[in-house]
Amino acid sequence: MRRDDIVGEVDVHKPSVRGRDETSSLACVRITRFRLPDATPGPAAGRGATGIVEGDEILDLGTMEPVELLTAGPDAVRAVARDARTRYLLDEVELLAPVPNPRKFLAIGINYADHIRETGREAPTFPVFFNKQVTCVTGPHDPIQIPRVSSDVDFEGELGIVIGRRCRHVPVERAHEVIAGYLVVNDVTVRDWQYRSPTWTLGKSFDTHGPTGPWITTSDEVGDPQDLRIRTLLNGETMQDASTSEMIFGCSDQIATLSTAFTLEPGDVVSTGTPAGVGFARQPPVFLRAGDTVRIEIDGVGAIENPVVDEPADTQVF
Ligand code: ZN
Repeated sequence: MRRDDIVGEVDVHKPSVRGRDETSSLACVRITRFRLPDATPGPAAGRGATGIVEGDEILDLGTMEPVELLTAGPDAVRAVARDARTRYLLDEVELLAPVPNPRKFLAIGINYADHIRETGREAPTFPVFFNKQVTCVTGPHDPIQIPRVSSDVDFEGELGIVIGRRCRHVPVERAHEVIAGYLVVNDVTVRDWQYRSPTWTLGKSFDTHGPTGPWITTSDEVGDPQDLRIRTLLNGETMQDASTSEMIFGCSDQIATLSTAFTLEPGDVVSTGTPAGVGFARQPPVFLRAGDTVRIEIDGVGAIENPVVDEPADTQVF
């Protein structure tokens, strides 16, 4: 419901439309996609839209993709936000993956010293990148499925980079210029499948194993990406609690290395590694079970929280 549908009975707790003068200053730019519940009246019902989060509300920017906005830069985003007339309460919308179809979803392994220790591996001298298949991408509150073929499903709380411009051969000292923003990633991993082969693609890429969100916080608002507290909670219990300052290869190093090999494009996501505390390295090991809830929080970026369910019976597509 939009406020222009309910003129005369304005309720501050309902989705609302404000005049431009009230939307003019955005302290922090957070971009995502959202969907209104099907039962909600109004033009945005049931459809996915792009939005800018402001306080406890979300501005409806229509069908423009977040990546289009990001490539336009923070000032352009603020200008679009000023023109947005419709807004909803954040509580009343379903947040979707901010980048639902990235061209690439890359991640780096063993990139925090304490995590390397718990895995018993050697510290890498060259970054260990792998792909998560983009079909695993889901939203910040979508269920993580325990696949029928495994019971060794693990969480990995990570800071994700969203690329904002097409680039190649980016020098380390200029890498910040190609980062549009950051989001929270759960690099969900099927451990037994991860270690069945030298490459990790299968174990890192099961459907639903790429929760992302809750929005893209633009890099100008995040500040130093190597000074953020990151925490993972399983059913409310802290499992990971670290600082991104502990990364071996920082965000800029990762972009420089990746872009040496290939072109990065707007909307590409790079997940920057997980700190200590993952489930499989614990004694006894902790694996996700249906009924669990995994929450990952990164200061200045946001939090995602995903329930865990068993793979439903209807996932066969054939
Ligand atoms: Zn990871």
